[in-house]
Amino acid sequence: MTRGEPRAWLPPGRIAAVCLSVDDVHPTAAIDGRAAGDVAREALDHLGWLLDRHPLLHATLFVTPDWRARPPATTRRLVQRVPVLRDWTYATRPWPRGVSRVDRHPGFVAMLQRLPRTDVALHGLHHVCRGPGAVAEFGHRSRAACRAMLQRGTAIFDAAGLAWSRGVSPPGWQAPPGLLAAMDDLDMSFIASARDLVTAADPCARTNGSGLRGLSLVFPEAVPGTRLVHITTNFQATSTRERAFSILGLGGLLSIKAHLFTRFGSYRALDGLDRPYASSLDQLLASIEDAYGESAWWPRMADVAERVRTMRPSPAVLA
Ligand SMILES: [Zn+2]
Repeated sequence: MTRGEPRAWLPPGRIAAVCLSVDDVHPTAAIDGRAAGDVAREALDHLGWLLDRHPLLHATLFVTPDWRARPPATTRRLVQRVPVLRDWTYATRPWPRGVSRVDRHPGFVAMLQRLPRTDVALHGLHHVCRGPGAVAEFGHRSRAACRAMLQRGTAIFDAAGLAWSRGVSPPGWQAPPGLLAAMDDLDMSFIASARDLVTAADPCARTNGSGLRGLSLVFPEAVPGTRLVHITTNFQATSTRERAFSILGLGGLLSIKAHLFTRFGSYRALDGLDRPYASSLDQLLASIEDAYGESAWWPRMADVAERVRTMRPSPAVLA
């Protein structure tokens, strides 16, 4: 830290911060032998259990308004080997539009609304696209196309009666310039694109993993050329307790990620919100509470964005 105070981004009296977000939240179709809706309910039950046990904890749910992705299949491998054709073909044939549209699933919406201290933000529109990217649906899209997708997604939230925060976690972590510009056009406030679980915690550490690179690993900061605040995922199920406390010790934002799925066909998520991950998070959060007490801040991502946007310049610029 060469100049500035690393904890200046925090509210008065707080010396570190913790936030939790969950990606891939949607009503869930019948997969892996479970009935429609079961996967969502089980994962959200685990989240509810965590929120009950940790009254300071808040969570941001990144919800896909009209999920169309099916578990990866092997039936189209031949097509995926053909240049050009593979760019115009879905790697796995998606669900039709509307099957998992959240406004058509009032029971799922009620489940989200019953969770305390959570907010909802966008995780794409359909979570699927043509070509090898498979889920990176904002990739290579124009500003106008991204803007239309964001507007369509939030219109579905509105139709569902679901209050939403002005942020995005892009599927596949891909945040092209068109998406960033479109978010700015719509006065959105935060994006969680980068995931870096490897780079050592340091005040000057920059993201070098999935998604946007070169942003602060431990502090929220403005995305250059925009008014958006970026929040890096720097912790998940495979991360160590030592990493968590290193980030907190720097006055940083420990940004914990979970995904709704543990399994999605042959795909196995390392941070699916199952009972073992919820239990390990329970232990971690308890140890943070013991160490920091009221001196830790436990915001939703929208709260982080609001705080940073009121500061000029942003804290990482000062670093
Ligand atoms: Zn996703």
